[in-house]
Amino acid sequence: MSDLQRRDFLTRAAAFAAATAAVSGTGRVVAGDPSFMNNVPDPLLAGKELPTFKFALEKSEAKVMGQSWAREATVTQLPISKGIAGVSMQLAPGDMRELHWHATAAEWAFVDRGRVRTTVIDPQGNAETNDFEPGDVWFFPRGHGHMLECLGNEPCHFVLIFDSGYFSEFGTFSISDWMGHTPKALLAKNFGLPESAFHGFPKTEVYFASGAVPPEKPALPLQGQKLPPQTHKWRLMQQAPIIDSKGGKMYVVDSGNFAISKTVTGSILDLEPGALRELHWHPNADEWQYILDGKVSVTLFGSGGRYRTETLEKGDVGYIPQGYGHSIENIGNKSCRVLIGFNSGVYETIDLSQWIAGNPRDVLATNFGKPAALFDKFPNKDAGLLDKDGK
Ligand code: MN
Ligand code: MN
Repeated sequence: MSDLQRRDFLTRAAAFAAATAAVSGTGRVVAGDPSFMNNVPDPLLAGKELPTFKFALEKSEAKVMGQSWAREATVTQLPISKGIAGVSMQLAPGDMRELHWHATAAEWAFVDRGRVRTTVIDPQGNAETNDFEPGDVWFFPRGHGHMLECLGNEPCHFVLIFDSGYFSEFGTFSISDWMGHTPKALLAKNFGLPESAFHGFPKTEVYFASGAVPPEKPALPLQGQKLPPQTHKWRLMQQAPIIDSKGGKMYVVDSGNFAISKTVTGSILDLEPGALRELHWHPNADEWQYILDGKVSVTLFGSGGRYRTETLEKGDVGYIPQGYGHSIENIGNKSCRVLIGFNSGVYETIDLSQWIAGNPRDVLATNFGKPAALFDKFPNKDAGLLDKDGK
């Protein structure tokens, strides 16, 4: 066996062992391939009634430091959300979410207000610095070290999406926490510096670091410019929507247009009052929703006669398990904006109108016990997004 073949074999063997352990109930189910996760019975979703799929994120307790804060929605706050966690974060001018990495999740973000600068390192030693404005998106693969800082004199606000519901923003690996707990002698050897160089370094996790407002033009890294082959930045609201109709617009970014985003797809759904994102499901991903503006009614169908509706308002989070039927309707009197994240790098949806249109009238007649002629009145193509009159 070549090294490459051997590595491939070991990976497959480990995956098989994990699968066997999970199915036989002897192993702990861990986050991983969502298509596999779907085959593992989830006790929370096995009851007679569907659990709540709503969490009032912006009304929850925050981690606060001055004008900077963070709120999170993980399985702790919203038990149904096993596949995706989310964080709402504000950074004040001069504040930084310090250098850190996430051992168990990739990070995807949408900038809501203000300007943000990020740096990120990859395992090849490439580093990228990017500046973001409202409507922009970033993606950091699992485990890649990064920092976020507010740019300019206004606070910035962004929503982070992680491809594991067990992830916690407050359990990340921060550089100050690590170096603060490493003996100075070891640090001195590691960096080839005298121990005195580390006097006065923080002893515990800084999390939010405060300093000067960053220069408008980013300075070069210590190593000079060494850019990665793929960028971590995407301008979501600068691209064309995939749906643009009387009822609203839908923007989608996945690895098809934003190549590095291999485990997360993001979407912005704008609905006019009364408009509806029709009944549909996602074969390959869980869905995480954050209401940026407005008020929506979300329905969830969970098989076995189980059906649940929640009203979500600005700052609320919703969650749809992989493969579960759902719809989103604007029930407010102004347009609404919903940020949606999926834990797959490929966007897939099957809409109910499309499914029906994909069947002949005699099949539908038999299924519903109705005359075949009725189905000539049904849409003969995907509706996707409808206005208040169902057009
Ligand atoms: Mn992070
Ligand atoms: Mn959906």
